[in-house]
This record gives sequence, C-alpha cells and structure tokens, in this order.
Amino acid sequence: MEKQLTGKVYDIQGFSVQDGPGIRTTVFLKGCPLRCPWCHSPESQQFHSQLSWMEMKCAGIDACGKCIEACPRGAISEGKTKKHPTTQENIKHITIDRTLCDNCGACTEVCSYKALYICGTDYTVEELMERLVKDIPFYEESGGGVTVSGGEALSQPEFTLQLLKALKERGIHTALDTTGHANFKFIEQVLPYTDLFLYDLKHMDNDQHKAVIEVGNKLILENALKIAQAGGKMQIRIPVIPNYNDSEENIKKTGEFCKELGDAVTVVQLLPYHNLGVMKYQRIDDSKKVLEAPPPSEEKIASLKKILEDMGLPVTVH
Ligand code: SF4
Ligand code: SF4
Repeated sequence: MEKQLTGKVYDIQGFSVQDGPGIRTTVFLKGCPLRCPWCHSPESQQFHSQLSWMEMKCAGIDACGKCIEACPRGAISEGKTKKHPTTQENIKHITIDRTLCDNCGACTEVCSYKALYICGTDYTVEELMERLVKDIPFYEESGGGVTVSGGEALSQPEFTLQLLKALKERGIHTALDTTGHANFKFIEQVLPYTDLFLYDLKHMDNDQHKAVIEVGNKLILENALKIAQAGGKMQIRIPVIPNYNDSEENIKKTGEFCKELGDAVTVVQLLPYHNLGVMKYQRIDDSKKVLEAPPPSEEKIASLKKILEDMGLPVTVH
C-alpha cells in the first residue's frame, strides 16, 4: 500500500483571534530553520517528535514515579528536590537523560497527571481536515478560517500545500504564518491557496539578522517582494524585541520596506516581546541561551506605532 503523506503537528488551537481575521483554528507544524532567542514555542523548532515534561504537573517520585519503571531505556531517574511553585510542597522530581531517550512515549502512557507528553504527532491531510471542518460554523460566523503556522510551515512544503488546497476546496479562508525563509518555489505553489500571509520582518539589517537568528534576511525580503508582485496579501508582523530591533532607525526602515510592498500589505502588526516562552524551554530540556528581558513599555510601543502610522501604514498592536 502506498504510504500516505503526513505532516508533523505539535498543536491545534481553536478559537484563535490573533492569527488573522475572525475566529480561527491554528495548526502548528513542527520544524523551523530559524533560531530566534525570543521564540515562545521552542517545542516547534526541531523537526522530530520530542518528549516534554511539565514540572508544574508532576506529582513527584514519592507520590507517583511510575515513569521510571515504564521507561525501557532507563532514561528517567531521580532528580532534584524542589518546592512546587504553587503549593510550596517539597517534590522529589524526575530527571530525563535525553541522550538515552528515543522519544518512544512509553512513559507518557503511565503518567496520569499528564506531566509527560510527546510533542509532535503525525497527521494525514484527511485526519486534520476532519478536525478543522468542525469549526466551520465559527469561521462563517466571524469571517475567520484556518491558519497554518509553525515552526515554519513551509519547511513541510508538500503537506502544507495539500492542506491549504483541501481547505480551499471546502471554501475555508486560509492564512499562512511564515518566517519567509523558504525556497520561493514552495511559496509560489501555495500562493493560489493562501488568502493571507502572516509575514514576519525581524530586522532590516542583514548582519544583525544573521548574528542573532542564524540566517540573514536577504531571502526573506526577496520573497516578500515576490509575493507582492504575484498579487498575494500580507499582514506584516514585527516582533518588538528590546535592544534588538526596536530602534527608530530599524522601525523606519521596516516601514519603508512595507511601503515598497504597496497594496499587498493589509496591516502592520507590532508584537511586543513577552517572556512566557522561557518556561517552555525547560520542558524539552533545551539549555540554549534564551532571551530573558523585560517586555517593551507601552510608551515605547506607542512611539513605534506612531512612526509607522506617520508613514501612512495601518498598524495594530497585539
Ligand atoms: S509519571 Fe508523570 S507525574 Fe508520575 S513522576 Fe513521572 S512525570 Fe511525574
Ligand atoms: S519517551 Fe521512551 S525512552 Fe524517552 S523517557 Fe519516555 S519511556 Fe523513556
């Protein structure tokens, strides 16, 4: 039997109101070529499924400890004793040796507290559509639809294309949330089935982009211009990161680029940095340097918004 195309999905969120117009269901695909230190979905970065552990939910070894027995590879053992942040009780925690773990999921099956789970599930387009069409009444009522997000959804190009096609066949409004860092041939394929691109612009200086995100911005800017030339619509998203891209100069340059994109830009969205993602890095034991900074002040955001508005651009803040 022919193997069916599958996509690796790490979350499906209904009733989303920040990922495009109306009420939407957002599908998050795993895998991303960028490494933004402020990423609030670190579980989205790797392409493979990963074991996640939520410390807050774990009952600890004395009260439970079932996962230690369940692991066939001996990857789970006794860890540190820590105070639970809410109950203040001392909890003897587990520790996971990621070099031994092969993400088999056996431990998740015995964890009745749902502290352990596998992040990343394979879906066929049909399986996903079965879930997504359930929300059609909400899309119709609100002018919403489905947003395909990530990670970088264009890193699973064939699956994303087939999913967008299937959504359009059902008359559902589609948005594609993208970093823009993808081969344009994939963007060209999805263009006829994408009503709106949610398109990130992080920094206008190529060196700064590369130094912090690990890839330059050339391809991203080129692709944005090509989408505009091809008649695509874009909601430009600017994550506002303190002391990185929040200078007047960078915001002005970003605004000038948006003007170049002309009618393709439906709105420019400022996304103030928040540090809610920091905890998530612990869940997957990602010890890489994560940005921990205070969020930008309301005054700062208002001043950046004004710069863009004075350039004649429609701006929202979320
Ligand atoms: S099975 Fe779940 S709740 Fe029990 S110790 Fe393991 S992670 Fe914690
Ligand atoms: S996912 Fe499998 S290998 Fe990894 S800790 Fe759990 S049971 Fe062990």
